[in-house]
Amino acid sequence: TNANLFAALRAAFPSDLDSIAVETDDGLFYSWRDLDRASAMIANLLHALKLKEGARIAVQVEKSVEAMLLYLATLRAGYVFLPLNTAYRQAEIEYFIGNAEPEVVVCSTANADWVAPIATKAGTRHVFTLDDDRTGTLLEVAAQCSDQHDIARKKGDDLAAILYTSGTTGRSKGAMLSHRNLQSNAEVLKDYWGWRTSKRGDGDVLIHALPIFHVHGLFVAIHGALISGSRMIWLNRFDPRRVVARLPEATVFMGVPTLYVRMLAEPGLTREACSNMRLFISGSAPLLIETFNEWRERTDHTILERYGMSETAMLTSNPYSAVQGERRGGTVGFPLPGVRLRVRDDQGNPCPIEEIGHIEVDGPNVFAGYWRMPEKTKEEFTADGFFKTGDVGKIDGLGYVTIVGRSKDLIISGGYNVYPAEIEGFINEMPGVAESAIVGVPHPDFGEVGVAIVIPKAGAALDADAIVADLKARLANFKIPKRCFVVDELPRNAMGKVQKALLREQHKGLFA
Ligand code: ATP
Ligand code: MG
Repeated sequence: TNANLFAALRAAFPSDLDSIAVETDDGLFYSWRDLDRASAMIANLLHALKLKEGARIAVQVEKSVEAMLLYLATLRAGYVFLPLNTAYRQAEIEYFIGNAEPEVVVCSTANADWVAPIATKAGTRHVFTLDDDRTGTLLEVAAQCSDQHDIARKKGDDLAAILYTSGTTGRSKGAMLSHRNLQSNAEVLKDYWGWRTSKRGDGDVLIHALPIFHVHGLFVAIHGALISGSRMIWLNRFDPRRVVARLPEATVFMGVPTLYVRMLAEPGLTREACSNMRLFISGSAPLLIETFNEWRERTDHTILERYGMSETAMLTSNPYSAVQGERRGGTVGFPLPGVRLRVRDDQGNPCPIEEIGHIEVDGPNVFAGYWRMPEKTKEEFTADGFFKTGDVGKIDGLGYVTIVGRSKDLIISGGYNVYPAEIEGFINEMPGVAESAIVGVPHPDFGEVGVAIVIPKAGAALDADAIVADLKARLANFKIPKRCFVVDELPRNAMGKVQKALLREQHKGLFA
């Protein structure tokens, strides 16, 4: 059989190909037949370029249904999809294109004047444009191509995509993901989250409001909908008011925590608006317990938090059904079926229940390695083949996994481990605090000390000294941040992740 992921997605299309697959928020409708024909046409375009086996198709375009079709066409034609963050500029694109050496580059018309020369210099032979209004040379050429295409034959281990990590802890790495990696994860999630499959086009309805250059929007959301034959309501940009307005027609929503916070600020978010909804899913960054609780009060729905990364797709999830257990705020739930997850200390010994250590994973979803970084790849796998996630966490007696931070954010102060998430948790519960971040900076006596950056709730006045005094009354001295700043907001990247590396850089001279 053909292990091409597209074959599995195509097989799940409803039998009524004229039913709606994607509806955009500005009123365009795409049937399943449209998805099939358009992906065939673009696949034929790629095929006609006579690319080498394993050729990379690098794509930096604004989000659109056509950009998703280009992804599907790349799978279908058997090449390797390589999406790039739309925020990247000259220096970043130079690095990614130079590193990936794609045979095809697709960019927006607005960026073509600087992207094309970079691509040509790196040896790319084909540059196309694609804009979010269904224009650009890619679609002009594809329009001349046949809408019949036999899905390329692929083995499970063949590469399907290279996904650059978000660059939260350092330079982004290209995670090489195979057809098997992606398909196994899509199938597990389809069962675990109870996606309603339908052969007649009456399955779930997903609101898709995430960027599609990242694992969350590209894989979890798109694969979830397609592999269950479910419809998508498609927003090119997240707009809290628009999402809330579409909730009554939808059944599933996926967001990063900041999207939930912004939706909570919408008066239209009510129980009634959510009465048709089946599932709200959050991930990519920690969901504050306060957001989790507030959401439940406002909507009667309990957000399901899950955990994953570019290198592995999804690893753990809170339970979907009450039979499996309750959805616990502050935890990321249980390892998904097929995923082996363990916590080990610095010496590599297994950590007992509730003890914090390094999270390591194995399973059919775990990637093959980092693109052109054999040394780095070797470092990040254990002798027995587990991937070191770089996250620190613990497992409780019932099996719930909690992420307490990243090993790179861990602070070692006077020889003691300080876990930023623990202190952030205390600060976040203080009155008037919206959120906080603790980072470690160099210190002549202690090696490293924590610095707190605290964001007040709208209208609240916070006193930095009072925050520190409050912590002193409750925590061991080595955990107390040595400085505290009250500022308006935390620096975040496109996925809503707090950029701690940036904060460390800003404050590194405090005690020097
Ligand atoms: P880089 O690897 O380049 O530093 P990154 O790790 O942020 O960047 P991604 O692969 O996009 O790149 O993100 C995966 C990370 O996101 C995980 O390792 C974890 O730290 C974090 N994450 C994902 N889901 C959750 C969650 N539910 N709770 C806490 N953290 C999460
Ligand atoms: Mg990472």
